[in-house]
Amino acid sequence: MYPRLVVDIKRLRENTIKTKKLLDSKGISMMLTTKCFCADNNILKAIEDIDFDYLADSRIDNIKSYSWSKKKKVLIRIPMLSELEDVVDYADISLVSEMKTIKMLGELAKAKSTTQSIILMVELGDLREGVLKEDVLDYVSEIIKLNNIRLVGLGVNLTCYGSVIPTRDKLEVLVKLKKQVKEKFNYDIDIISGGNSSSMYLIEIDEMPTEVNNLRLGEVVLFGRETSYGNRFMDLNEDIFTLEAEIIEARIKDTLPNGKQGLNAFGEKIEYIDLGKRKRAILAIGKQDVNHDDIEPVDDRVSIFGSSSDHLIVDITDTDYKLGDIIKFNLTYSSVLKLYTSKYVKKEYIYE
Ligand SMILES: *Cc1c(COP(=O)(O)O)cnc(C)c1O
Repeated sequence: MYPRLVVDIKRLRENTIKTKKLLDSKGISMMLTTKCFCADNNILKAIEDIDFDYLADSRIDNIKSYSWSKKKKVLIRIPMLSELEDVVDYADISLVSEMKTIKMLGELAKAKSTTQSIILMVELGDLREGVLKEDVLDYVSEIIKLNNIRLVGLGVNLTCYGSVIPTRDKLEVLVKLKKQVKEKFNYDIDIISGGNSSSMYLIEIDEMPTEVNNLRLGEVVLFGRETSYGNRFMDLNEDIFTLEAEIIEARIKDTLPNGKQGLNAFGEKIEYIDLGKRKRAILAIGKQDVNHDDIEPVDDRVSIFGSSSDHLIVDITDTDYKLGDIIKFNLTYSSVLKLYTSKYVKKEYIYE
């Protein structure tokens, strides 16, 4: 059945084990981020035995789906007020940045006779979530007075919206805040969560502050890449996910559309390049499942012309591909995210 996304579980296990080992040697715990693959339980069951501590996701529905896991669960998107009850029920820790949200979490936790652990996010330049650093001590002083809320950590997220690269200086801000909290309130903050896969290069160049003891990681484990510079990380596997799509038409046609030029199916004005007549294949997959800019044919004789909702058109002139054949593509974080979200794309697993 096609199209299908093939997941190499063996390579994923290798990456998970190697990353965990490296982090262990630096005293850093790992929150494996499951959102890229929609928390696919087949994947999670295949790595449950590897002894990292946390699974993390931005969506509470995904976290709910792995209630069976023995790992601690972390909600890494700031929660909606409308989902707080689920947060208390399903997340062991949640990342937060709003006092109203924190107080409501405390009230709900109280009603359920439990305590909600939180990591307070600090804005350090990327301009996504987090309280301003000058407001952190005020927040902490208020939080530690609350019942049923336990402040377990300070965290930062970088290189997501603002493309800001984590540096030792940036992460030292969190370390300094932790020390100030200890001095001012005699309160120990356990976790310093120093970011995502973009922080991994700091380990390679030995610039990670020793006090940083947690990272939330998706891309480096899933794609073998650090995300500050986009480099391969150590000898991690980069080819865990592959897309396979089927040819439904193969025919020699022009490359320059023939007729008065308007807009394409998505209202875009496209420049077409005249390459003369080429053998073109139509594959049964489209923009509904993946953006064609985020995939790359494994066979370098194949190139992509473009796509519409349900059709992907590729150049197969220099190949023998024919109707019914399968063409494979290498993938990126964003293409896997989208392909996973598409119910039309089958998921297959290689275990050996
Ligand atoms: C997605 C996300 C991560 C993981 O990012 P990667 O680049 O995949 O490692 C970490 N923290 C937060 C808050 C996230 O939203």
